[in-house]
Amino acid sequence: MNVVQAVANPVDIAYLITGILFILGLRYLSSPKTAVLGNRLSAVGMLIAVVATLTQGIVNWIVIGSALVVGAAIGILSAQRVKMTAMPQMVALFNGAGGGAAALVAAGELLKYVNSGTPITYDVSFTSVLSAVIGALSFAGSIIAFLKLQELMTGRPITYPAQQVVNALILLVILVSWGLVVAGVQPVLQWFWIALGASLVLGVLFVLPIGGADMPVVISLLNSFTGLAAASTGFVLGNNVLIISGALVGASGTLLTVLMGKAMNRSITNVLFGAFGAVKTSTAAGGAGHGGQNVRSVTPDDVAAMLAYANEVIVVPGYGMAVAQAQHSIRELADQLEKKGVAVKYAIHPVAGRMPGHMNVLLAEANVPYESLYDMDDINPEFERADVALVVGANDVTNPAAREDKNSPIYGMPILNVDKAQNVVVLKRSMASGFAGIDNPLYDDPKTVMLFGDAKKSIDSVVAGVKAL
Ligand code: NDP
Repeated sequence: MNVVQAVANPVDIAYLITGILFILGLRYLSSPKTAVLGNRLSAVGMLIAVVATLTQGIVNWIVIGSALVVGAAIGILSAQRVKMTAMPQMVALFNGAGGGAAALVAAGELLKYVNSGTPITYDVSFTSVLSAVIGALSFAGSIIAFLKLQELMTGRPITYPAQQVVNALILLVILVSWGLVVAGVQPVLQWFWIALGASLVLGVLFVLPIGGADMPVVISLLNSFTGLAAASTGFVLGNNVLIISGALVGASGTLLTVLMGKAMNRSITNVLFGAFGAVKTSTAAGGAGHGGQNVRSVTPDDVAAMLAYANEVIVVPGYGMAVAQAQHSIRELADQLEKKGVAVKYAIHPVAGRMPGHMNVLLAEANVPYESLYDMDDINPEFERADVALVVGANDVTNPAAREDKNSPIYGMPILNVDKAQNVVVLKRSMASGFAGIDNPLYDDPKTVMLFGDAKKSIDSVVAGVKAL
């Protein structure tokens, strides 16, 4: 097919439009202001790709139609019902489905060649095994990630002796069987199934030793694997839109993985092989071991008075805000404070919550103006000038041990310098630790007071207190 024919092909034009919409969608997703538009553009792109693909000779409309209806129903229901806090495991599950689908399509293509007796070219055999290996690994790894995050199995790292040696041996089995498929050594299908089965096992073993707090990073990495598997399947099928979208998912997943690692000051190898949280160090005694001797507990009315008479308040949201769904109450509190002439800013840590952008999404849902949201580097110098840092369900991202204690497991992770504010108010339910499972010396700081309870209920009481002043 020459260039003119290719361009004239309506399906290719549809795929080209899809590719452009996906790229624009990703571009717009990078800012909360344009994220909804980005999501819509990508959805339209996906619809165009599906319709264009359906025009290309469907073998069985009943099977395809039922799959479309079931898939769409699951997608709509989960988008409506799944809580924001459960988003990482939903992404893991969907991502696993993508990897599994890529592996199955590759297997189907290879079976077609073998059953029809058509000679398999190197590019088809190489890319089929590539899709199957990465897709199966991503599928199995994502399912384990889902089970861990959904607490259907322990979230702690599961380690055993000679783990890396076992993984290396399985990798060797995969590479040898892959080579045998490409070399056309009979029976080709047998080697293919061995490579696929070994990849499933590797996916499970690869994710088992990774701890809960590192899971979102792993999900992002597995997401990029799924993208590569899809792109590779695109080569097997000769489908341009799969190649483009797979490459986009692969690249964006890789970038996100690197950015999350940077924000936690962890290398990707450390996340993957460090078994973070498996063994607690002395500083990592966890909430249960926290003495709490110096902790000062206050009432909502005390906090209301502190806030109402402040000049500047910096709100520091974290995972607990997401659990309590306190964002709307926080917005109301900010409105009340602003009426009294208090300047309210929000400090956003790149890994606050359980996924990148978690806090931005929740605060945008409560119509908090984007201009009031400050990134870590911009807000950190501001804490010294703030009268009160109001920490709402954030813990690890405010832990000064990351800055000062070389023995801390999170030493080196950039944090929000809330301890530099004139006063610190921490809203949480107990002295329990955050995701990293370590104590937070901030709570013993003489500047810090604690308002114990569910963040939404606490903020609602503080709002009532501010109104009454
Ligand atoms: P943390 O998980 O450190 O702490 C959350 C705190 O919220 C807990 O101490 C908990 O204390 C409190 N909390 C929970 N529920 C409520 C509630 N209903 N009301 C009030 N408080 C509540 O959260 P951070 O946001 O500070 O840190 C995020 C962690 O996740 C970091 O360790 C980060 O590295 C990790 N992570 C984040 C990723 C991301 O992309 N965002 C990716 C990978 C890892 P209590 O139980 O006492 O109430």
